[in-house]
Amino acid sequence: MKTLATFVMIAATAIAQESKPLVIAHRGASGYLPEHTLAAKVYAHALGADFLEQDIVLTKDDVPVVLHDIYLDTVTDVAKRFPDRKRADGRYYALDLTLAELKQLRAAERFNAKTGAPVYAQRYPSGSSPSEFRIATLEEELQLIAGLNRSTGRNVGVYPEIKQPKWHRAQGHDISRIVVPILLRYGYAAKTDACFLQCFELAEVKRLRQEIGWRGRLIMLIEGKAKGDDGTDYAQLCTAAGLRELAKVADGIGPAIGRIVSWPTAGAAPKFTDLVALAHAEKLAVHPYTIRRDDLPKNCPSVDALHAALFRDAKIDGVFSDFTDLTVAWLRAEK
Ligand code: CA
Repeated sequence: MKTLATFVMIAATAIAQESKPLVIAHRGASGYLPEHTLAAKVYAHALGADFLEQDIVLTKDDVPVVLHDIYLDTVTDVAKRFPDRKRADGRYYALDLTLAELKQLRAAERFNAKTGAPVYAQRYPSGSSPSEFRIATLEEELQLIAGLNRSTGRNVGVYPEIKQPKWHRAQGHDISRIVVPILLRYGYAAKTDACFLQCFELAEVKRLRQEIGWRGRLIMLIEGKAKGDDGTDYAQLCTAAGLRELAKVADGIGPAIGRIVSWPTAGAAPKFTDLVALAHAEKLAVHPYTIRRDDLPKNCPSVDALHAALFRDAKIDGVFSDFTDLTVAWLRAEK
């Protein structure tokens, strides 16, 4: 049992850590190891991330697993091991396999399901995953992080995302009602706990707060395009009125970087929107995605030019990075 003193200490650590901009390891140290493997999470923890991200989808038997897409065919060998599980659209879904089946899959660096070519050519070779690279359950990952925090004396937080809740519900699975009790059981309950829950669907963000009763911090993700597949109106959300309304339920936004800064032409100065100022006026934290050394915004000259534009000029509060070490190093040098 944790004593009250322990809880107070953990909360204090969380607040001390968060007095500086946060480095959120996007799918773990995904620039170096296959995304969302436990190896990628261990490495991100070691590289100094403040938070580790979990994308969450359900298996057929309703076990939350850490996987970026509802599909399995771009990060595992599912097509080889379960060829008959393909749906009519040609895709393989995590929701069509039980956890026991899904555990038989090898996880690998992201690749194009049609061509087999890696999405990021310079990253971990997709053909050489050791058999230890598997899809982890949410609980396995939460246990790993708790263990690492204990053995290192750090308090690295978690940053879970509810993936496609509208789609999951249409398939008969209420993902939020399954995930939230697990987070509570692992001690992530209040805004002082080292956890941000995130989602791209506005209706679900409202539902998490108003119906499901999530009391921890909540981040509304915002795509670069005007409307989400579920109907979320991102363009409206980014207005002063949209953000004022959002602030009633959410603690922050996670916008695509292009909603904050862009480089109109090569060699040009970066051009900023007013999104960060509008969000800060509503006391919303701003955690954009994603820093990628090997996939910079168009015309952006370097990864450190991107760091400078986001942290120094736009004054964001944290960032999702595939390269935890580069973002940590830039922030240390800037102090
Ligand atoms: Ca995510």
